[in-house]
Amino acid sequence: MMFRTMDKKWQERWEKARIFESDPDNREKFFVNLPYPYMNGYLHLGRAFTFLRGDIISRYKRMKGFNALYPFAFHCTGTPIVAAAERISEGEETQINNLKKMGIPDGEIENFKDPVYWTKHFSEEMTEHLKATGFGIDWRRSFITTSLNPYYNKFIEWQFRKLKEKGLIAIGKHPVIWCPKCKNPVGDHARLEGEGETPQEFTLLKFEFGDSYIIAATLRPETVFGQTNLWVDPEIEYVKTKVDNEIWIMSKECSEKLKNQEKNIEVIETVKGKELLGKYAKAPGIEREIMILPSSFCDPDKGTGIVTSVPSDAPDDWMGIYDLQKDKELCESYNLNWDEVKKIKPIPIIKTKGFGELPAVEICKKLRVKSQRDRELLEKAKKEVYSTGFYTGIMNENCGEYEGLSVMEAKEKIKRKLIDSKKADIMYEPSGNVLCRCLTKCIVKIVKDQWFIRYNDPEWKKRTHKAVENMNIIPDTVRKQFHYVVDWLNDWACTREFGLGTRLPWDKKWVIESLSDSTIYMAFYTISKYFNEGTIKADVIDDEFFDYIFLGKETTKNYGVSKEILEKMREEFEYWYPFDLRSSGKDLVQNHLTFCLFNHTAIFPEKYWPRGFAVNGWVMIDAEKMSTSKGNITLLRDNVAKHGADPIRMMLAFAGEGVDDANIETQFVETIKERLISWYEFAIKNYNKGRETKMRVDYWIEAVVNQIMKETDDAMENMMFRTALQKGFFDLQRNLKWYLRRCGIPNKETISWIIEVQTKILAPFAPHISEEIWEKLGKKGFISTAEWPEYDETKIDETILKTEDYIKSVIDDIRKIVKVAKLEGKNVYVYTAPEWTWEIAEIVEKKKNFNESIKEVMKNEDMRKKGKIVSKLINELIKNRIFSKKMDEADILKESKEFIEKEVEMKLEINKDYDPKNKKLFAIPTKPAIYIE
Ligand SMILES: [Zn+2]
Repeated sequence: MMFRTMDKKWQERWEKARIFESDPDNREKFFVNLPYPYMNGYLHLGRAFTFLRGDIISRYKRMKGFNALYPFAFHCTGTPIVAAAERISEGEETQINNLKKMGIPDGEIENFKDPVYWTKHFSEEMTEHLKATGFGIDWRRSFITTSLNPYYNKFIEWQFRKLKEKGLIAIGKHPVIWCPKCKNPVGDHARLEGEGETPQEFTLLKFEFGDSYIIAATLRPETVFGQTNLWVDPEIEYVKTKVDNEIWIMSKECSEKLKNQEKNIEVIETVKGKELLGKYAKAPGIEREIMILPSSFCDPDKGTGIVTSVPSDAPDDWMGIYDLQKDKELCESYNLNWDEVKKIKPIPIIKTKGFGELPAVEICKKLRVKSQRDRELLEKAKKEVYSTGFYTGIMNENCGEYEGLSVMEAKEKIKRKLIDSKKADIMYEPSGNVLCRCLTKCIVKIVKDQWFIRYNDPEWKKRTHKAVENMNIIPDTVRKQFHYVVDWLNDWACTREFGLGTRLPWDKKWVIESLSDSTIYMAFYTISKYFNEGTIKADVIDDEFFDYIFLGKETTKNYGVSKEILEKMREEFEYWYPFDLRSSGKDLVQNHLTFCLFNHTAIFPEKYWPRGFAVNGWVMIDAEKMSTSKGNITLLRDNVAKHGADPIRMMLAFAGEGVDDANIETQFVETIKERLISWYEFAIKNYNKGRETKMRVDYWIEAVVNQIMKETDDAMENMMFRTALQKGFFDLQRNLKWYLRRCGIPNKETISWIIEVQTKILAPFAPHISEEIWEKLGKKGFISTAEWPEYDETKIDETILKTEDYIKSVIDDIRKIVKVAKLEGKNVYVYTAPEWTWEIAEIVEKKKNFNESIKEVMKNEDMRKKGKIVSKLINELIKNRIFSKKMDEADILKESKEFIEKEVEMKLEINKDYDPKNKKLFAIPTKPAIYIE
């Protein structure tokens, strides 16, 4: 039986029966989607992992009785496709080889000179690969983005006019991540490194220094009240620069950066860091002269290369001072007055939760930081102090008029005041390293006449926080991160000068960039099938049309179709929206997913705001990060061709869950194949066969399987698919194995039920082989649309569940005795605990505590008469954590006599009077006494 043959057979049947084409009906709906992939390559296993999670949850929900919808589309917006096509036209080797590596034949490379061909080729191929992997997608709703799709183009135009109407789009000066070589803003898709990094605002503090200013950059302007000194690197050459009408001292690198940020820069001369040491400059905000001191942590490429020192709250600064104050020789080597240096004391400024008045000093002591060169520890210290300080801190009495304000509030006010009084300025830097595709390090440039989306709008942020608060987020721990991103997200440059996409409707020289045209298209899925069928023509569609469909506004137009069709489209949107779940990798939290929320809250009424996000980790392959250099990026297509869809699906689903990184174990696929095939054979061979009589062990396996079903259900609902497979397949199989060993011939009804349950649990993961089994069992219809097996809570009886553990432990105990005593016995005598001990055990089971148990037991006069033996027993039960409801041990043993005898290869005698070694006395509930002869 070949996996590939089965794949083809069932994929054809599903398609013919259209079981994944979902239209509105009376059932409750479940709408799953995911961030569509970019059309410049095939799917690798990493992306497939995320997409598969969407498929599994939609298949599961369908079996749970929901009308499940899982659509798919193809993202073509942006510059990468155009740039790559251009490189093919120029005959560039690397780009041509990239295509060849994907398996594109030499003769076809020519076609890729045309960007449109990319969108066509990769969307068609990806569709085939997903179909071959058994994805249950409603392909009628698929589309590509950009002006190549006139419907989508109109939809995006509508969205942007809506944003503009609401005042959420503006034009003006705007900082963007910029490639100095390409001379263009660099969006996420065009980056080799630094996805999600944005321009970060620094406050430039101006320190009066003779006729010039020394400039220090900070992210925490509110800490000016704690300034004690300035830091420079003695070895760095700084520059004295004319900036507009002032003279600034900063690093050369910084002066270059400022040229792109609306400053007129003219370098006058260089100044060695050394020359500044020991001199004084007047600190802004506190108007006090502070000393300039040497440090090793000033990076000329970061900020201005000069740092203001706040030792109360900045671990680096505290360690810098600490290093100097304990070392007279060091100070003298810089010509510093050691006595003056020793006078510097940290000034407490912020009351931080969980810290004393000098958090930086405290954390350095706690982490045992030895010097300012202890970089790793200092990074840790900074992280801890900054985040608590920033989010929980309150300004103290040393902060003048700002006393009592939260740090967050004070920050804005202090910054504003410093800038207004010309004691500070602003500069931007990328929040992390960003590398353009052309390998150039990116900078921040302030561009003029840039259109941007005003994500910084406080009202808008408020609405979006509300959306985050009310939605379902899997796992819930990511909710905090969403709130953080909503707070931190700045205005977003939403247009580019070239690339594929939709032109900005009111300023057509601009193209809307790729992270901005992919925020509410989940709504487009609800009606895209009408476009794909050509029911309605693109050229008649206007804003009023989308207002009618998505916002329920009246329209008098007919758009060339009947009123019924228009109403049907509107109803279809109302039926599917809002979507229930968007499944995505965690790397998209900071852009795609958050943008999706913002735009929904701007355009749609609250009832259409997203209901759920599921976020997963990255994927490693055999514990290594996937990367081009390691050559371990493998394509979904090739894996499925080699192993079949089901084994690859199972391998991916088992790779991981939650936001931790998943790990694909490529060897595991062989184990999975064996397991699936052996289940297939077992199911077909054993269905509807077995004994009619019922034994205790049948009730046991029923309880176990119901328990497993319950746990599996819980895992499925939370998209913990690894857990679901662990419980619902591997644990179930292990227990089934024991059951068969125990009873030899299974009960017919029980085994048939288990076969159905197991196959159904497998169906969302390994749908092809599950269908095949389903058919061979003689079932009508597809297992993909069969009912998910519901567990029966009443069957999960704790006492029954314990019976097999009991037998296992008796067998284990007998074996242990045989081994330890090196016996070769013929008869084993087992004595179960007497009735009265069970009376005590049941009390202990309830109380789980010695004192309360003994109090309760001693109410009984018979027990009191027994004396010490009672308290000894209670003690033992509690010590061994034997908390068991009553079971009829003798009866259980009797029923399993034959089995136990076979397992231990001895004759078993239960509760015989014969007891030559007085073993009976040692029996306690669930732990019978054993004598071997
Ligand atoms: Zn570039």
